[in-house]
Amino acid sequence: MRGNLYIVSAPSGSGKTTILQHLLRSFTDLKFSVSYTTRRPRQGEHNGTDYFFTDRATFLGMVERGQFLEWAEFNGELYGTGRGFVDEQLETGNDVILDIDVQGAKQVKSKIQGATAIFILPPSFVELERRLKLRMLEPDDVIRRRLEIAKCEIQFYRDYDYIIVNDVLENSILLLESIVRSGTVKPQRQQARIEEIIASFGGRA
Ligand code: ADP
Ligand code: 5GP
Repeated sequence: MRGNLYIVSAPSGSGKTTILQHLLRSFTDLKFSVSYTTRRPRQGEHNGTDYFFTDRATFLGMVERGQFLEWAEFNGELYGTGRGFVDEQLETGNDVILDIDVQGAKQVKSKIQGATAIFILPPSFVELERRLKLRMLEPDDVIRRRLEIAKCEIQFYRDYDYIIVNDVLENSILLLESIVRSGTVKPQRQQARIEEIIASFGGRA
């Protein structure tokens, strides 16, 4: 029995990390794939929890050895999803969630059949700008570049199975929770249980 794979993308500052933190607190069986990145840690970020922070040479070595399920360049830095962790978890039957950009989402969708992709949108450009500034973790030029990238990224919403407009935070958390919860009632996710029930009827699944 393989686990479900969820992909979450959003323009930077939309509130994706905030929503994911809530989701992961309520779904303890859902495994978050910690990405590798060459960008420097922001204040409060920890190696191994938020990202595996690495240098460019190490990252490119991993690319050469085929250790990434997907990888992409975002705002001049490299980001990638470790193949080993995701394969292992899915094979064990655990659900996995990826926080990756639109380029990475496209690669994963083409490689993993049945992956569910969710796009989080801010309610407006002005609100996105306000949230990025409120977060106060990046200099103005970085914020300006992230806003420019956001203008392109939002065009990719069509590649996603679900769109969540992150207006009221509590509603967005509930929506993402319902998407993940509905994945747990897919037949392939319940194979063992179904077999048990059918066996109790004297039959075979
Ligand atoms: P991302 O991971 O998408 O870059 P964050 O989760 O860091 O975004 O959120 C950016 C900022 O917006 C944070 O200060 C966060 O507290 C705030 N935020 C998140 N969701 C909402 C919301 N629904 N309404 C108002 N502010 C929000
Ligand atoms: P940030 O620097 O704000 O943490 O992330 C910038 C962008 O990179 C976000 O859109 C985030 O989802 C994306 N990202 C994070 N990890 C990965 C990854 O492993 N692969 C890809 N393709 N994008 C990632």
